[in-house]
Amino acid sequence: MQVELVFITPEAERHIARCARVSHRSAGKDLEDDRRLVRRLIALGHESVLEHASATFEISGISRACANQLTRHRLASFIQESQRYVDVRKGELVRPPSYSEEDWQEAQRLLHQALQLYEAFLARGIPKEDARYVLPLGIETRLVLTANFRELRHILRLRMSPEAQWEIREVACRMWEILYAHAPSCFADLRPLAEPWGKEGRA
Ligand SMILES: Cc1cc2nc3c(=O)[nH]c(=O)nc-3n(C[C@H](O)[C@H](O)[C@H](O)COP(=O)(O)OP(=O)(O)OC[C@H]3O[C@@H](n4cnc5c(N)ncnc54)[C@H](O)[C@@H]3O)c2cc1C
Repeated sequence: MQVELVFITPEAERHIARCARVSHRSAGKDLEDDRRLVRRLIALGHESVLEHASATFEISGISRACANQLTRHRLASFIQESQRYVDVRKGELVRPPSYSEEDWQEAQRLLHQALQLYEAFLARGIPKEDARYVLPLGIETRLVLTANFRELRHILRLRMSPEAQWEIREVACRMWEILYAHAPSCFADLRPLAEPWGKEGRA
């Protein structure tokens, strides 16, 4: 899996604080002052100010199952690789950690058979958009996700939680790492959700 930052609002914390200060006609002294204000607003639940900054991620090497979960977030915007247009004959499966080596070999065999049938369908003149119906849910896909910081916090809260499935949890934790590095005051309070993944998930 790869989670790559494509775009983030430049100097996002300063920008959010500047927008927030319009309501009081006040001015911030420096970055630390802005960060204090952002943390205070989040603590007060005044999260609409976070809608003034956004980020775009390119996420690849995730399963269609995971993509289905991510795209349920209605306030985010998505572009997903299309199986109607892209030839998926080199498609690979994502391996769930619960699969033993034997399970994995069986899954690979099933993928191989599905891809053979897919190819046969194409050869018979069936269009890609219909041939893809035989492909498994675990096949890799890629997508682009754009969301404002308020929605990103919502996604991270839900998807870094231990209740979330391992794959989307890993996506969310990687997004959190990137967002935290760029705008710590906007995401620091979500750290407790990311830490168990950091310690166990990647170790
Ligand atoms: C652990 C877990 C298990 C899940 N299991 C299932 C499952 O079994 N089946 C299933 O179908 N889904 C399941 N989901 C998906 C879940 O139901 C949501 O669709 C998904 O998490 C998106 O959340 P959301 O609607 O809060 O957020 P978003 O769509 O990202 O929206 C953000 C927020 O905007 C507001 N909002 C957005 N649209 C509206 C609206 N139309 N009206 C009012 N307010 C709105 C809400 O406050 C919402 O929380 C699961 C999610 C999780 C995290």
